[in-house]
Amino acid sequence: MRRFTPLCAGRPGALRLRERLASLDAGRSVVVVGGGLTGLEAATEIAEARPDLHVALATHGALGDGFSPKGRAHLRTVLGRLGITVHEHAAVTGVEAGRVVTAGGAIPAEVTVWTAGFAVRPIARASALEVTGTGRIVVDATMRSLSHPDVYAIGDAALAMGPGDKPLRMSCASGIPTAWQAADAITARLTGGKLPNAPLRYFNQCVSLGRKEGLIQYVTADDRAVPAVLTGRLAAVYKELICKGAAWSVANPTFALPGRRRRVTREPAAAGSAVRTPARSTPSAR
Ligand SMILES: Cc1cc2nc3c(=O)[nH]c(=O)nc-3n(C[C@H](O)[C@H](O)[C@H](O)COP(=O)(O)OP(=O)(O)OC[C@H]3O[C@@H](n4cnc5c(N)ncnc54)[C@H](O)[C@@H]3O)c2cc1C
Repeated sequence: MRRFTPLCAGRPGALRLRERLASLDAGRSVVVVGGGLTGLEAATEIAEARPDLHVALATHGALGDGFSPKGRAHLRTVLGRLGITVHEHAAVTGVEAGRVVTAGGAIPAEVTVWTAGFAVRPIARASALEVTGTGRIVVDATMRSLSHPDVYAIGDAALAMGPGDKPLRMSCASGIPTAWQAADAITARLTGGKLPNAPLRYFNQCVSLGRKEGLIQYVTADDRAVPAVLTGRLAAVYKELICKGAAWSVANPTFALPGRRRRVTREPAAAGSAVRTPARSTPSAR
């Protein structure tokens, strides 16, 4: 029996997946589990790059059920054009060598790509911080831990509430504004300034569907689809620009971080304080 090796999200996992796909002969099957944004991107990317493989997508609900009717119709068209077999309402109960098991039967799978949900690292759960059942740190509107006010959490690690008191989903779209919010709140508390109230909201969900197609689904502030969508090559370029922009801002943090707006100065660590603003007043313990 062949060895079953799970792959994790991240560069090493991506490189191993690339290797595995490259080793597959024509006609072999790849199953992407999960019909969320990552699953849609993975399935279309693989099908476009390797039209000689059988690519299938298994999803718990209906295909694209979070999108508007126009968005769903576009998804069906593109996935159909790429020859992707869609298994809807197919809850996967097991992954075995050579197949994926669902309540309705088995789907052949030489390679399985699991995209059914993000998870956070266990470090916060192992600490005394108050976390949710999934290990995300519970924070207030300034990203400060409810249980430990000296600790701030941002991005996937934090469970922050957005508009309508709905938890923000794990995404760059949430991670960036929560980082700004935390940085501004820390600065405000250190300098006695006004606490920030940056809007933590959504504008769109951007999905690439291979290199030449995409779907930009416009959403309400609390992330519900509205009728408007952008599709086609323009949507693919839009998503690519977002990815390139994200990579660029990671490589050039001084252009993206609040330090640019607040003229932060640095002191030697030995002086007891790593960072301060030039015109700070008495630190506030709020
Ligand atoms: C395949 C895929 C596609 C995605 N596509 C999109 C998309 O199109 N749009 C979107 O908005 N979101 C997307 N996301 C989600 C997005 O990537 C994450 O929500 C985002 O990266 C979260 O940012 P973060 O900084 O909170 O965590 P991460 O990006 O995971 O960064 C955490 C960092 O902390 C480091 N770290 C962890 N533990 C420690 C430790 N103990 N000590 C020191 N360092 C540590 C890690 O090495 C890592 O560098 C995607 C995610 C995946 C996996």
